[in-house]
Amino acid sequence: MHSYKDQPDGIFPSVCSLDCPDQCGLLVHKKEGKIVKVEGDPDHPVTQGSICNKVRNIKERIYDKKRLAYPMKRIGKKGEGQFERISWEEAIQAITSHWKQLIETDGPESILPYSYYGNMGILNSESMDRRFFYKLGASQLDRKICQSAGEAGYQYTMGSSKGTDPEETVHAKLIIFWGVNAVSTNMHQAVLAQKARKNGAKIVVIDVHQNQTGKMADWFIPILPGTDAALALGMMHILFAENLVDEAFLQKYTVGYEELREHVIQYDPETVASITGVSVHDLYTLARMYGDASPSFIRIGNGLQHHDNGGMCIRTISCLPALTGQWLKQGGGAIKANSGYLAFDSNALQRPDLLENKRTRRINMNQIGQALIEREQPVKSMYVYSTNPAVVAPEGNKVRKGLKREDLFLVVHDLFLTETARYADIVLPASSSYENIDFYTSYWHHFIQIQQPVIKPYGEAKSNVDVFRLLAKGMGFKEPEFQETEQEMIDRALQFEENPFIENINYAALTEKQFIKAKVKPLLPGKLSTPSGKIELYSKQMKRDGYPPLPTYVPLEKEEELPYVFIPAPNHNYLNSTFSNNEKHIQLEKEARLFINTKDAERAGIQDGEEVRVWNSRGECRLTASVGEQVLPGVVVSQGLWSDAPGTQQLVNSLTPDRLSDMGGGAVFFSGRVNVSKENDNRADKVEEHLLNFL
Ligand code: SF4
Repeated sequence: MHSYKDQPDGIFPSVCSLDCPDQCGLLVHKKEGKIVKVEGDPDHPVTQGSICNKVRNIKERIYDKKRLAYPMKRIGKKGEGQFERISWEEAIQAITSHWKQLIETDGPESILPYSYYGNMGILNSESMDRRFFYKLGASQLDRKICQSAGEAGYQYTMGSSKGTDPEETVHAKLIIFWGVNAVSTNMHQAVLAQKARKNGAKIVVIDVHQNQTGKMADWFIPILPGTDAALALGMMHILFAENLVDEAFLQKYTVGYEELREHVIQYDPETVASITGVSVHDLYTLARMYGDASPSFIRIGNGLQHHDNGGMCIRTISCLPALTGQWLKQGGGAIKANSGYLAFDSNALQRPDLLENKRTRRINMNQIGQALIEREQPVKSMYVYSTNPAVVAPEGNKVRKGLKREDLFLVVHDLFLTETARYADIVLPASSSYENIDFYTSYWHHFIQIQQPVIKPYGEAKSNVDVFRLLAKGMGFKEPEFQETEQEMIDRALQFEENPFIENINYAALTEKQFIKAKVKPLLPGKLSTPSGKIELYSKQMKRDGYPPLPTYVPLEKEEELPYVFIPAPNHNYLNSTFSNNEKHIQLEKEARLFINTKDAERAGIQDGEEVRVWNSRGECRLTASVGEQVLPGVVVSQGLWSDAPGTQQLVNSLTPDRLSDMGGGAVFFSGRVNVSKENDNRADKVEEHLLNFL
């Protein structure tokens, strides 16, 4: 193993571990054993030395004085944040003895793991932890908070999570960013688009908010939330009507294009304009631009899938490149996610065979609040790692009510005393990715990368892998799976005959080269993983699964009669709740804002810069109004998951619904409705009364 961590000075290769498609190559500068600077690795072929603000300032997080340095047990009330130091031995003993007791009295399903990708390292997010909880027989968690609806929708059309190689997109002549703030959440795709623009490409951004990406566009098209499928269908209507489709491609590589041609007649421009808020003139211009440009590339955003109709929306947009034959053009096509190209042997890593009871219950992480307050078959213990559900999960007030339960034995393993950790019985200090060994597979570009530890663990912090080894020992699990080294696990995962693209990538090769591009072959539209092998514009499988077989616009669920659709989008300097407790990043982000249209603000008497209450029957929060034309009337947008620092009330997920999307069991963060009022508007008091009753 490379012992970078033992070398006090120097510049060492690294990789960004955040849940971001770019997965940048990094160079870490060290002096006297500490990180003094992090910069982009100029030799990384995709990210080429540029990195974002979040990570340029990462040392403020790594050495933040608030970082947890040793295990602790709670001595105050839940949520108060009063803890005292204990040893690792005491912590592991407390957890495993509690769990042994619970297994006796309530069965193993009374224990629930709760995690997501706060650290994208494969070993630390889905290896020893999964083995442990399978062996324990704990309730299984459906980790569906982010990509599952869109993944399901895209796969109905394209068969797997594979799209265009982003490096090729510099050749595109039209780039559409659809529902993605790429400047803040996929910055190198924005860089590649700028390069394409120098070669004559046009950049179009379709979004509910004219954010940083909208501002860089040649043309920004504002759209009403949840209506994107209608816009795509309106484009298809015009493409067919004006013979802008590639008939030869459709015949050879797709299923159902004749049915689609008939089907989209109903999505005439007037109808589509009335649904989407995009004018008839703009719809024609967009469709003709798409029909004329080649290669054209669509970056399909994550935001679109966080709606009631998110799966169908992605399914529909992903049909567009086939209509103009883009999958055969260099740089043409679309990316929703490219994780399919770097698939590894997850069964070998996770070992689902260790779970004896194959009918063990499953809990969807989007409904954790409901699961925690449920009285039947209650969750009696939860182990949280690499996420912060008190801030990140929908229906936040339900989540926090559940976390407060006196009879819930809560363990949190994190770098900080997060909002969730304040409710914990035992808190364990987590190492940062710079202290761990791990491997990384991007879900956008085609590189696999390795992280060798560059610094020593902070205080007594440990990686997820190490903690689950200790827990396995504490539980008396003797299987050799719990003894495997990181190197063995990396090799086991990458030895995967089913994916020939990653042949020859293994621990030794990664250690030598730091990053290796998979030998990806371009998508062959006649040899996809769909049932027909073709692009399925008509999907029999969808019909069998109870969905319309053709792409279809389905309106959002009817919610309470409140005037605004609320979109709690990401911001520039945080990644979900990561960084929301670090002073430097808070300073960069300044304040939690709510973007509201000028007309709406005037009607409600709201001034720019004023604090407003945002509320519905689920909860309320207070944000600073940003009045202007960045959103359409009837839409309000916040940015970032802010902490609940004293004196603030900024937890936007207090407002979001916990119902599930049409496909994939995904979250519908963006389909909730709210009201917005001035601070002293007493209509909001009614909601407060309701909340007090609820809590
Ligand atoms: S968060 Fe994304 S853009 Fe920023 S350094 Fe990490 S991978 Fe790169």
